Order: sequence, then structure tokens, then C-alpha cells
Amino acid sequence: MRKRVIVLGSTGSIGQQALSVLRRMRDDFQVVGLAAGSRSNVLADQANLFRPEAIALARMNDASMLEASLDYSPQMLNGANALRDLVDQVPCDCVVSAVVGIGGLAATLRAVELGRRVALANKEAMVIAGSLLIPLTEKNAAQIIPVDSEHSAVFQALHAGRRDEIRKVYLTASGGPFLGMEASALETVTVEDALKHPVWDMGPKITIDSATMMNKALEVVEARWLFDLHPDQIEVVVHPESIVHSMVEFCDGSIVAQLGQPDMRTPIQYALTYPERKPCPAERLDLASLRRLHFQPPDEERFPALRLGFEAARRGGTAGAVLNAANEAAVELFRKGALPFPEIARQAERAMRQHEFKSVPCLEELLAADRWARQEVMKCPTC
Ligand code: MG
Repeated sequence: MRKRVIVLGSTGSIGQQALSVLRRMRDDFQVVGLAAGSRSNVLADQANLFRPEAIALARMNDASMLEASLDYSPQMLNGANALRDLVDQVPCDCVVSAVVGIGGLAATLRAVELGRRVALANKEAMVIAGSLLIPLTEKNAAQIIPVDSEHSAVFQALHAGRRDEIRKVYLTASGGPFLGMEASALETVTVEDALKHPVWDMGPKITIDSATMMNKALEVVEARWLFDLHPDQIEVVVHPESIVHSMVEFCDGSIVAQLGQPDMRTPIQYALTYPERKPCPAERLDLASLRRLHFQPPDEERFPALRLGFEAARRGGTAGAVLNAANEAAVELFRKGALPFPEIARQAERAMRQHEFKSVPCLEELLAADRWARQEVMKCPTC
């Protein structure tokens, strides 16, 4: 029996790579649902190829255009709740959650409530609502298998020991395009500069998050929830080659790492096939030709976003939602040319300082904190 898979965010970078994995493994997996926010033309091509039972499109306006481009008649869902409704209505074994930002939260929550396996690339969902997602996962016997390369590495390394034997988790960071840049030069970098990642080929939002190191900040919060870690057990280490995807140190001092080429198809495939491993077309590592791998501590003065991630991980409650929302809004403004680059982290910090913190929020309170933080950033005096 083939496993039934829904891909949320199928037209984005991770979604497209997930479909390339699923296409190659079509004897094992059947794509039964595809969902995207917009880009209806790409979604239509994907649907005509995979012929899922249902398609969801968040942007109502593009629905008729999408329907006209299809050469068969699947169930169509559209509007603000379309992604969640797709998960709700189409039975499946696994949901690949590859939406960027808060837009993926409701559908991810629903997948967990239904006891599905979630291959989670939508780290923002965990940053915002890890305090709800993790207990729901346990309650409904769901599984969240990380797709984020660092968390996939930690997930794999954790198999080498017991939970109470973990001393530390090292999340590696490439450092992004501005790794060696002076603080003063960061004031004038452009959107094009920030979109040039030295190693990973990713979507625009995560590439800018990588340049500010906010991506790593969000990943600290993500790791805190996913692996039930105390924030003091998480350390970020800059590793420009992005070959060691992350490491776990156990109580006896042994450090177990996962290495591989920076190719997202590997963690995507593992999240689908776990606990099995299957051949993957990602290029193999040639250790002898690598010769050297470099590690250095991150510079929190030049990249203050990182501190905010640790703060959000430590505080829990609504802090992750506020950090994520302020960042999403500030990245949008930066991409429009309305904010200088260093202002992204400053706006996030301002929102973190000013927000009315709740330590045990419900979903409504998390969503309210998200809305508040976006509004705060939108009314900043420099905009
Ligand atoms: Mg990552």
C-alpha cells in the first residue's frame, strides 16, 4: 500500500523539492493533496502531473484561473481556511508542512489533531505554537519529523543515546552572506545582497532570515520545543561550509554529528521514509576533497537576532509568536525597501520588549500576540 501524502506549500522551494522526492518514490508514496498560497499556474502544473484528489489555494482570486488550467477535475478548496480544510477532508498518512510563516499553522495543528505524521518544514508554526503542538502530538499519537536540516540532523543524532544522556545540542549556522561584514556596512546592504546565500538555495524569506541570523534564532526556539531542551542546552556554532548539519553532545562527552551535502532532498526524504532510509540522489560527500571544516562562535553584537531566539526559547509563552510575527513584518518591509537591514532585528527586539507577555497562552492569545506584533512593526517611525 502506498502512503498517502499531502503537500502544503507545494509551489515554494521546499514544496517543489518534496515533490521531486515524491515523484522519484512514487512506488511508495501517492500525492493525494496539494496546497499553495498563490502561484496557481505552478500549482496547476503540479496537479496535472500528480493528479491529487484535492487541491487547495488560499488566494480566492486565482481559483478560476487554476481550474481552467487543470486537465482533470479534483476537489477544489479555496479561501483563507483552504489548507486546513484540505488536511481535514482528505485522509492521509503524512502531511508535508512547507508553508512559510504563520500561514501554515492552522493546517499543521489540524494534522497533529488527526494523528498524522507531519514532515515539518514550517518552523514558524513550532516557534509560534510549540507549547500547543507538542502536547497535541503526544495526545493524538501524531508524529512531527523535522525537515529543517539542522533539526533533522539532531533528530538523527539523538538515536545514539537516551534523552537523559543529552548534554547539549549544537545547531550549526552557515552565517549567511554577511558573515564577515563590519556592523557599519550592514546598515546599507540591499535586498539583492541579502538574497545571495553562499551555500543554500532557498526561498526569499528564509534567505533573508539567514542573513540576519533570525533563521537560527527561530531554529533555537524550534529545537527547544521539538526536543524538549532547556535553552542552556542549545548552542549555535557558525560553520560556513554547511556540511555538518548539527550535533548532539552526550553526557560522556561524545559528540554525534550528521554530515552531508547541503541538499534539502535528504532531510525531506528522511522525514517521509523514517524509520527507514532509502537511496537519495543528493551528491555524496567526498571527505578527502573537503580537507577542512571550519567552526567559530557567532557574533551576537553584529547579529543581535540570535539573542532574541534564546530569549524567546527561555521565556516560552507568547514570546515566540511575537518574535516571529515582528520578524515576518519587518522582513516584508525590508523587501519593499522601507526598512534598513539591521532594523529587522531592532524591530523584533522592540516588539519583544513591549509586548504584554502571557506565559500559558491559548491559540487565540498566540494569534492575538502575532497580530499585535505585526501592527507594532507596521507603525514604526522609520516606515
Ligand atoms: Mg535550517
